[in-house]
Amino acid sequence: MNSNYSNAKVQKYLPSLKTFLAIILLFFIAGIGSMIALANENTVVVMANVLNVRLGPGLSYDILTQVNQDDRLQILSEENQWYQVRIGNDQLGWVASWLVEKEEITPDSIQYGRVINAPEVNLRQYASAESEIIGTIPENAELEIVYQDGDWYQVLYMGKVAWINSDYLEIIAAPTQLEASLERIIDYESYVSIDAEAAEIYMEPTSNSSVIYHATYGEEFNYLYSEGDWFYVEVAPDQYGYIGNWLASAHTNDFSEEVEVSQEENRKNYHARVNTHLSEATIVIDAGHGGTDPGAISTDEQVYEKELALNTSFKLQARLQDAGANVIMTRTEDRDVGLGERAQISNQNHADLFISLHFDSLEVPNMMSGTTTYYYNDADLDIAETISHYLATQGELPNNGTRFGNFQVLRENTQPAILIELGYMNHFVDLKHIRTDHYQATVAEAIYQALRDYYGQ
Ligand SMILES: [Zn+2]
Repeated sequence: MNSNYSNAKVQKYLPSLKTFLAIILLFFIAGIGSMIALANENTVVVMANVLNVRLGPGLSYDILTQVNQDDRLQILSEENQWYQVRIGNDQLGWVASWLVEKEEITPDSIQYGRVINAPEVNLRQYASAESEIIGTIPENAELEIVYQDGDWYQVLYMGKVAWINSDYLEIIAAPTQLEASLERIIDYESYVSIDAEAAEIYMEPTSNSSVIYHATYGEEFNYLYSEGDWFYVEVAPDQYGYIGNWLASAHTNDFSEEVEVSQEENRKNYHARVNTHLSEATIVIDAGHGGTDPGAISTDEQVYEKELALNTSFKLQARLQDAGANVIMTRTEDRDVGLGERAQISNQNHADLFISLHFDSLEVPNMMSGTTTYYYNDADLDIAETISHYLATQGELPNNGTRFGNFQVLRENTQPAILIELGYMNHFVDLKHIRTDHYQATVAEAIYQALRDYYGQ
């Protein structure tokens, strides 16, 4: 835990109102930023016996209704690894993407229509001419059709569903104006970050076109493709523009592969299992240290904290995936990952919980023994205490309870976050335990039990 302690002032205070508002704003920006509509794979099959459909894309939203195994749902958009689905005629809800399976469908099973018979046609909230107008669409525009009800087509419009009267829409074999009418599939594995102090984002790939956004240093945008010396990026939902590649750089998210592997494993393992709230949770597991940073080292210099943390993280990952949860690892090998980056992984994935695993040491060997659970925000005290309780009752070592900890991975986390010290590297009794598979599996099980308890059944 050495490196985290060194730059941490241990002082307890409540986050200011400003911080609170900034966090809310971050949530908001991150939320709208990851809103997309899917064009090709738009039907999913429910794999759990019963699956919750929630009001919003996350475990924290209320349950609207439930659907059953083998039910088919139509996907309208995706946010935060949750799918927005159509459940009733005009009812929309959200399901965890890792608890459903996408059906293979061929592009020609998607129906498209072209706007006809009027220069501008109204799009309505419901399948009725009395219903509220939620937008208008010009003649010849093309739309993806998701449903038909009598004289009305339900179509995708700006990432939402809307209704258009069938008099004004003709079915077409395939869209011709790909740019304008196809809902884009955004590649979330790639993003562009601004390297310059300030940079303009233009409507067209030329600085002679109009500016649609003033970007500043460090801002990030989803990357779509390159055109000459220009990156085409998502500025806001349904708003795209060009930024010169001499002012920005394109990156690939290193963690995308790990996320995919864990979801693939989830799908394989998740067969006819009863749904629990834990299965809807996205948990980020952060194995402390790694690469050039070994963390604490045993007195005989034979055992490194970074190795024990990673081994224990794998055991916790397996246990939580087996319970159906969506697990994201900040690292799966012995490599350097920045503390800020670890918190960002939690923030970007809207984690329901970030768990950082560490092993302690003190300057004087054999002074302290046992486990300690740290929290930074008061709101996370509950989950910290639940985990601490299970470590105390199921763990092999003494438990030292919960403590406030001003660690960067907790401090920069906008999501619920805790850090667990799972025993002392330089206590001879602790070391005997913590280096064993048995100990690591026991604490993984204790944390799993705590989460099952905390999220309820
Ligand atoms: Zn550590």
